[in-house]
Amino acid sequence: MRGVIMHAPGDVRVEERDMPKIVAPTDAIIKLAATCICGSDLWPYRGAEPVRDQPMGHEYVGTVTEVGADVTSVHVGDFVIGSFMASDNTCEICQAGYQSRCAHGEFAGAGPGKTVAVVGDGAVGLLGVLAA
Ligand SMILES: [Zn+2]
Repeated sequence: MRGVIMHAPGDVRVEERDMPKIVAPTDAIIKLAATCICGSDLWPYRGAEPVRDQPMGHEYVGTVTEVGADVTSVHVGDFVIGSFMASDNTCEICQAGYQSRCAHGEFAGAGPGKTVAVVGDGAVGLLGVLAA
């Protein structure tokens, strides 16, 4: 598969990458329909933040092609939206509706062995697709 990598400020290249694999039973693999560069990518691109070999495009939409044994909320064939933030959706903060501040959250970076949060294509998801 191809991916966009920022090697250094102003040095962005499209490259061949390893195909993703299910690593953890909570993983899902998504075939992307679209992704975009986030405003947070612009800081390292301009040299305002350090960067080295960083995959770009951490907000995306696509179709689930494979899920791990413990995944129950999305299924193969679902059209999903991924956020820049991976959250567990189970902690107290997530349950209060603030998934971007998840107690176990981490910044997502799509790629082999990476875990990302996805949501189904309900009304909010469809709005995200329209806005993309
Ligand atoms: Zn959480």
